[in-house]
Amino acid sequence: MRKLPTILIVEDEPAIAELISVNLRHNGFAPIWAEDGDSAQRELDAVLPDMILLDWMLPGQSGLELSRKWRGHPRTRAVPIIMLTARGDEPDKIAGLDAGADDYITKPFSTQEMLARIRAVLRRRAPEHSGESVAIGALSLDPATHRVSHAGQPLKLGPTEFKLLHYLMRNAERVHSRGQLLDKVWGDHVYIEERTVDVHVKRLREALGDAATMVETVRGAGYRLTAQPDASKSIASGA
Ligand code: CA
Repeated sequence: MRKLPTILIVEDEPAIAELISVNLRHNGFAPIWAEDGDSAQRELDAVLPDMILLDWMLPGQSGLELSRKWRGHPRTRAVPIIMLTARGDEPDKIAGLDAGADDYITKPFSTQEMLARIRAVLRRRAPEHSGESVAIGALSLDPATHRVSHAGQPLKLGPTEFKLLHYLMRNAERVHSRGQLLDKVWGDHVYIEERTVDVHVKRLREALGDAATMVETVRGAGYRLTAQPDASKSIASGA
């Protein structure tokens, strides 16, 4: 039900790419393979992955150049990158991190090390894939089991309301514009009206019952989830 995190592997050696792909697939990820910078760019132009595993030594543009390019571009800026480097290339590793890589893995590497580093980076950069539960006030949400409860009582939410609540809870007390919510919750390459956000916020409040006031409308700015709702405001003021 939950979408598997996609990982774009940019690696020119088919045997290594295949080995990584198999291991990722067996561990709950959806790998995509690109053999050079150009094909990687085509993948990125189509759909953004949750992470890029980027080989340092590639035909054409090097991993370093690609990392710099993708970091400098608004569309790809936020996609985590782990560089694959050869053993002993210490200056390379530092250059890689300077070029915007989140981490590096030295070849040859064990599957366990690779998975540990991928999970750590995803946790840092994209907590929605970490599976960690989150609690704000009496409201708690567990992404692993897809359960939401308030004061111990289970709540029933639709898939979009679940994603919306998860995002608001992970970023509680901050105000999010409708545009930001569309970006973060509905995601890349989805073109829908900002009014859609209001519809789902309304549904979310209905599903939350007693906890509905935790989702506040901030006039002229957007929405916020707070642990201390303003009791003087009624839910209807969100309209
Ligand atoms: Ca290579």
